[in-house]
Amino acid sequence: MPATAQDPPATPEKKAAAKPLSAPQKALRKLGLVRDIDLALHLPLRYEDETRIIRLRDARQGEVVQIEGEVTHQEVLYHPRRQLLVTLHDGSDACVLRFFNFYPSQIKQMAVGARLRARGELRGGLAGLTLLHPAVRAAGGALPEALTPIYPTVAGLPQPYLRKAVLAGLARADLTPTVPPPLLHEISPHGRWDLREALTFLHQPTPATPLADLQNRRHPAWQRLKAEELLAQQLSQWQARDERARLRAPVLHAARGGLHERLLAALPFQLTGAQRRVGEEIARDLARPQPMHRLLQGDVGAGKTVVAALAACIAIDAGWQCALMAPTEILASQHFAKLAAWLSPLLAPRGQAVAWLTGGQKKKARAEALAAIESGQAALVVGTHAVIQQQVRFARLGLAVIDEQHRFGVRQRLHLRQKHPDARQEPHLLMMSATPIPRTLAMSHYADLDVSTLDELPPGRTPVVTKLVAAQRRAEVIERIRAQVAQGRQVYWVCPLIEESEALDLQSATATHAELAAALPGLAVGLLHSRLPPADKQAVMDAFSAGRMAVLVSTTVIEVGVDVPNASLMVIEHAERFGLSQLHQLRGRVGRGAAASACVLLYEAPEGGRLGETARERLKAMLETSDGFEIARRDLALRGPGEFLGERQSGAALLRFADLNEDAALIDWARRAAPRMLREHPALAQRHIERWLGRRADFLKA
Ligand code: ADP
Ligand code: MG
Repeated sequence: MPATAQDPPATPEKKAAAKPLSAPQKALRKLGLVRDIDLALHLPLRYEDETRIIRLRDARQGEVVQIEGEVTHQEVLYHPRRQLLVTLHDGSDACVLRFFNFYPSQIKQMAVGARLRARGELRGGLAGLTLLHPAVRAAGGALPEALTPIYPTVAGLPQPYLRKAVLAGLARADLTPTVPPPLLHEISPHGRWDLREALTFLHQPTPATPLADLQNRRHPAWQRLKAEELLAQQLSQWQARDERARLRAPVLHAARGGLHERLLAALPFQLTGAQRRVGEEIARDLARPQPMHRLLQGDVGAGKTVVAALAACIAIDAGWQCALMAPTEILASQHFAKLAAWLSPLLAPRGQAVAWLTGGQKKKARAEALAAIESGQAALVVGTHAVIQQQVRFARLGLAVIDEQHRFGVRQRLHLRQKHPDARQEPHLLMMSATPIPRTLAMSHYADLDVSTLDELPPGRTPVVTKLVAAQRRAEVIERIRAQVAQGRQVYWVCPLIEESEALDLQSATATHAELAAALPGLAVGLLHSRLPPADKQAVMDAFSAGRMAVLVSTTVIEVGVDVPNASLMVIEHAERFGLSQLHQLRGRVGRGAAASACVLLYEAPEGGRLGETARERLKAMLETSDGFEIARRDLALRGPGEFLGERQSGAALLRFADLNEDAALIDWARRAAPRMLREHPALAQRHIERWLGRRADFLKA
């Protein structure tokens, strides 16, 4: 029937759809709890046992207890701090409820004679038994039969609302099994639980379940769930690997008598065994018609750049272009200087060149670079992120090298892949990092990545001596700078912040620069920080690289990759404020030549106090080892895996339930099960990935 003027203006459904979300609904969205399955998989952070009332006489100190009794005394003290003290008697003993923050309504609620139920950690002491800030409600009322789940939440989303939403989601969610029983049986006895059973149990554990089994996540229901989660992660990575195997990339072979051979002959040093081995691994990948996806990891100073240069030679020999990107302009320009020095003389006779491309470049220079890239005359392009911008068009991009890849976002890497002129092909990808990925992390989060390792430093290096020096001895350190410079050496001095920040009370780079310049008359002392215009940064770096500048005061902009072999002393101010990997990176700026080098970690404990536990662990690690792998392992233990994953951490892609250290056995299982499941039950595998990762799956694969 055709529509008439009498038709109602809008359907009720449409009105309902436009209704704004309530605050808790918005909060649910914020937590990513959109689908029923998201709610069902939103598992408790911990549990509280509200099922029992315990008599004070039977309770043990240090335990969380729930008691019921009558208020026999109440008072508000003002010394040493304002506090409310309420004495509760339960017939077996008395206990003081102590509150430092309280409202008038609470004074009323806990008046003498009131019967209360209180929950908190029981402490003993001179003043007798105490509960500090217990949860309090009126006595009586039914006790819950199961442990009370406490969910991870955000502001505006109260536990009871969230609990209801989760249970409703769990009831509605489609939880038909996806993992085939034969695979599950391999992880018995956990495999005997089905998914709905496990989830129901974890949301509402049965009354007799020991709290400890739930808290430490070793309960079979937890194990079952972690197995599912790890399997989803492995499946998505294996799938990515399969997808990549179907992609096409140019087959790149080094030419006889070509650039590769000639660069090797021209280098002023012999490759280390590790460099040769890794070079061969890369060459094998490049010769395949599938895109390489390889991480080259090697400690600072291991000599990754020359490996990249040799890979670039293979691509150029085969008639393709290579792009090399670094996260900062300084680092990129160092790469450019080095690669141009090595390759320009070899490329020039062929009418080719090394091009330089960054954001801060002059218009004309940029236009020339773009033209050379588009015509293919620029055989190698070195730069920052500018290289993957939209306007940059490559004639034939065959290989992309990304230095310090953990600083590059996943999105940027995707952009780079799209630079290939033929949409069905993508360039080979080589990522380089001085921050090695710990093994468990590589197995779980980087299953889709091939890893090459430079485990040998070039010969002739003297190890860097690391010293921990209290900030009070700053003057001695400055004297030491003078001695180094007198021997013709150069010095880095790294400060944590750019400008005086009152809140943090950090020595600013600017102030330190002025101080050192005054203390070291006659020496060229330069200043480098991220707010300098690019041209100034470049000028400072050039002066330091060329040896015209003795001391470089800098913020962490020099953290990665900068290579000035004549620098032999690194001073890091407020070392206690840096992360472990960052300290290791900074230390790696010295010890790059044959001269004996030192790294001085200046530290300062907060006023009147001691350094925090983590800060001490980090400094201790720096003293004890200079092995990047050991550093990475300790860093993982100190900080958790987030830092290693860069952008992946924000993508909620980290494992929510499984733990890389605790669950190595389950990770092994998932690694074995994933390829089998993809082969034998592809549809189930797909469902499993969607259930667990939803839209995040694409992100994880990048
Ligand atoms: P990183 O792995 O930290 O990027 P670089 O590539 O910057 O290390 O190399 C550090 C220094 O060692 C550079 O000056 C480089 O030219 C030099 N180098 C690299 N390989 C060798 C080698 N096999 N023998 C001697 N020096 C080398
Ligand atoms: Mg490097």
